[in-house]
Amino acid sequence: MTEPASATTASATTASGPAASGPALAVIGAGPAGLAAAVAAAARGLRVVLVDSAADAGGQFYRQPAAALDARRPWALHHQWRAWERLRAALTAQITAGRIRHLADHHVWCVERESGSGFAVHALLGPEQRDSVAVRAAGVVLATGGYEKVLPFPGWTLPGVITAGGAQAMLKGSLALPPGRTAVVAGTGPLLLPVATGLAAAGARVAALVDSVDPRALLRQAGALAGQPAKLVEGAGFAARLAFHRVPVMARHTVLRAHGEERLTAVTVAALDAGGRPVSGTERRLACDTLAVGHGLLPHTDLAEGLGCGPDGPAVRVDDEQRTDVPGVWAAGEATGIGGAALALAEGHIAGRSAAARLRGDVPDARGWSAAARSRSRLREFFAALDAGYVPPGGWAERITDDTVLCRCEEVTAGAVREAAGPLGAGDLRTVKLLTRAGMGWCQGRMCAPGVAGVAGCGATPGRRLLARPVPLGALAAEPTEPQ
Ligand SMILES: Cc1cc2nc3c(=O)[nH]c(=O)nc-3n(C[C@H](O)[C@H](O)[C@H](O)COP(=O)(O)OP(=O)(O)OC[C@H]3O[C@@H](n4cnc5c(N)ncnc54)[C@H](O)[C@@H]3O)c2cc1C
Repeated sequence: MTEPASATTASATTASGPAASGPALAVIGAGPAGLAAAVAAAARGLRVVLVDSAADAGGQFYRQPAAALDARRPWALHHQWRAWERLRAALTAQITAGRIRHLADHHVWCVERESGSGFAVHALLGPEQRDSVAVRAAGVVLATGGYEKVLPFPGWTLPGVITAGGAQAMLKGSLALPPGRTAVVAGTGPLLLPVATGLAAAGARVAALVDSVDPRALLRQAGALAGQPAKLVEGAGFAARLAFHRVPVMARHTVLRAHGEERLTAVTVAALDAGGRPVSGTERRLACDTLAVGHGLLPHTDLAEGLGCGPDGPAVRVDDEQRTDVPGVWAAGEATGIGGAALALAEGHIAGRSAAARLRGDVPDARGWSAAARSRSRLREFFAALDAGYVPPGGWAERITDDTVLCRCEEVTAGAVREAAGPLGAGDLRTVKLLTRAGMGWCQGRMCAPGVAGVAGCGATPGRRLLARPVPLGALAAEPTEPQ
């Protein structure tokens, strides 16, 4: 693998001062992975431009309350707060030293390979997202994290049904509970634990935590899970908090349907058999006005796809140095596979150190990051074992009624998707989209692709979009300017 010819001479061009000398690295995403990469690269002398769509650094895991809320105990909704304080101090030090420039509220819509001279990172500005700027750099670290997967069920579009991560983001970012008095947290995956305990600690009545996970499937992975005692302690802590808040845990259960006219009033849950299918006669109705639901996370790969980086399943493929197979592009954190904040930190650190050496034309000494590499291997193994246990209920797609809306942006029902995949003969997501418009709206299929693929009976193949988000024509037509 070779680096771009210009990697050692390109510069970060900013409008706020003279062009920086030496190689420049654009890090996209200021979550744990991006922050670790930026700090590691800057500490080794690279000029780093850290580009993120959020107003503050931290990403999903270290999402901070809005400054105007003047939170007195910002750590109360977080775990691993000390790690965040260390990371934030390192970031502040590098910004003060002029080695990192943090561009908050910058939404990257495309990373373009420039002929022989590195990359142009195009980003829309601020909440309005009308004007676009371009950051030029010799190398890029993609640390764009993941997003939630929600499998549809009848009633999932009722007001009061939100995503589990959305509830968590509301708590952490706005210090607010979702509207309503009684919540059910449902779906599958470890994220449901901080969501249920967070909601309960903030004063919501959590009527149940409903997870399709079969605890015996996790026990079968005991060997791999035991390799991360700190994670097991974390899990025990969540179990203790659930017990403290008297949250009933319904493992091997699923939500069959959400009920309500104007908004959510109840859900029907059922037990699952050994094959993950609902057991007839076990249905129970739970009254609630909030349902926080999620079935795991998916890696954000759109910028990588646009650049031509190869995939590894649903994630971006990387080597031991976190290099993608596009020279000059690294990827770290959940973009390369779902595995939590600690894994994101380890991968980001390795990516930053590798970039610092490679962009100067040096071969990095991997012994320098051996601790991070060991942590990366152990955590990847741990999360692979968890993945084997946390699986969605069997036959979920068959239970979706024809009138259930699958694609909210374009209001496409399961019936329309079934017609496209059946009589009309669509055999892949792209053809289903062309026939029904499912996935053509604002979210570009991020929310509906797993549901549409499940109902159509085809694979949830990546979209290979040229642009990662909708861009105004004016911004596309304008000559790119540098960030202010
Ligand atoms: C909604 C949600 C809530 C979560 N809550 C928890 C939790 O409470 N506890 C827990 O253990 N784990 C949680 N997770 C998992 C958690 O995200 C990861 O473990 C960890 O944060 C991964 O770090 P990362 O750096 O890879 O990605 P992230 O932390 O997701 O950071 C990615 C960053 O990239 C930015 N970004 C993405 N695309 C673009 C773009 N095109 N342009 C500019 N910026 C971009 C985002 O704004 C974000 O700041 C949550 C995940 C999600 C999706």
